[in-house]
Amino acid sequence: MNNNPEWLSAGWPHIWLPYAQMKTASQPIPVVGAHGARLKLADGRELIDGVASWWTVAHGYNHPHIRKTVAKQLETLPHVMLGGLAHEQAFTLAKRLADMLPRDLSRVFFSDSGSVAVEVALKMAIQYWINKGERGRTKIVAFRHGYHGDTFATMAICDPDEGMHSLFKGVLAEQLIVDLPRDTATTRALDTLLERERRSIAAVIVEPLVQGAGGMKFHEPEVLARVAESARRNGHIFILDEIFTGFGRTGTMFALEQADLIPDIVCLGKALTGGTAPLAATVASERVFDAFLSDDPARALMHGPTFMGNALACAAANASLDLFEREPRIREIKRIEARLRSGLEPARGLPGVRDVRVKGAIGVIELDNLDRDGLRRRFVEEGVWIRPFGNIVYTTPPFVISEEDLTSLTAAMVKVVQDAG
Ligand SMILES: *Cc1c(COP(=O)(O)O)cnc(C)c1O
Repeated sequence: MNNNPEWLSAGWPHIWLPYAQMKTASQPIPVVGAHGARLKLADGRELIDGVASWWTVAHGYNHPHIRKTVAKQLETLPHVMLGGLAHEQAFTLAKRLADMLPRDLSRVFFSDSGSVAVEVALKMAIQYWINKGERGRTKIVAFRHGYHGDTFATMAICDPDEGMHSLFKGVLAEQLIVDLPRDTATTRALDTLLERERRSIAAVIVEPLVQGAGGMKFHEPEVLARVAESARRNGHIFILDEIFTGFGRTGTMFALEQADLIPDIVCLGKALTGGTAPLAATVASERVFDAFLSDDPARALMHGPTFMGNALACAAANASLDLFEREPRIREIKRIEARLRSGLEPARGLPGVRDVRVKGAIGVIELDNLDRDGLRRRFVEEGVWIRPFGNIVYTTPPFVISEEDLTSLTAAMVKVVQDAG
């Protein structure tokens, strides 16, 4: 077995890695294959994947049904532009997503990444008001600890201090970032803001139940319902960013089901293709869509990614939805939730551990502080792939992970945290 493949050292001086200080970054670990919840490394070892490639791999890597569906699509039509042309996979997927979501959410706009799906949602919301003749409504209300993407419009609605983008203060559009309404004071603050700034606000956006990349912070459905209610009362467009939470991660197909609410726009991405190909979607309600219907061509939504609704990606997404229908994913997520609770509980009370929390197939150990690179190395030694960020060590495993692998995963998390404490 080759420990350090030729392509790795040949490409290393030329590649620029995500979120990495390239001066000190160590070479990444070469992966040559993956199946189920396991990554196969170039040196022959296997790692249990606790991250599911940034939360995307719902049904495990290389699921035969997804593989076959994509291969078949590759033989017939890998891609065709959606500007004026149509293909079955995109149209079928649009209908299926609309059928899965609450009834009013019925128009699906495809893009290639979550950040762009959020950009499109913001564009829809702002243009909604322009098309209605209200020109001043351009501000977006978002929440502290939120994360909505890395592009300029989405950076402006991430947490302004902890959202990885504080360097860009002054360059970004100034948006209204507030606390989630967890108690009376913050509820009143949100209500007051939404009412006072009514004429300048276009939309309110929130990650339902779990704020992901902003620190894996959870909130109860009642908190989410309060946001929805305040937005509704003041007539604002209400956007749910389900890019992380969608497709089962919090224990229901979509997090919105747990608060029983219907937003004006939903953003989907990440697990949409079961982790197979880049694809995202912005799903709008009739209310939003209707505001774009006009005899005036200038009122149309002016957006169109080149690879919009790519046929391979849509085929993967359709196959992923087949699996959600055929296989007991939601039950598996409940099982994972119970196992994460019992498996991570021993970390509570360890030195340096601030919190242990679990929701759906998300398990988090929050520390006072941590050496991210050092911990990552220790996890690899323990045979698991865990990528700590901020001050948290977390797992979001593929839903098909075996009992044994899940036990090894949580045991490794507790052990490494204990050794570091
Ligand atoms: C990951 C993520 C995004 C951005 O998606 P990309 O595909 O990385 O652009 C936006 N919102 C949420 C909630 C996310 O988790």
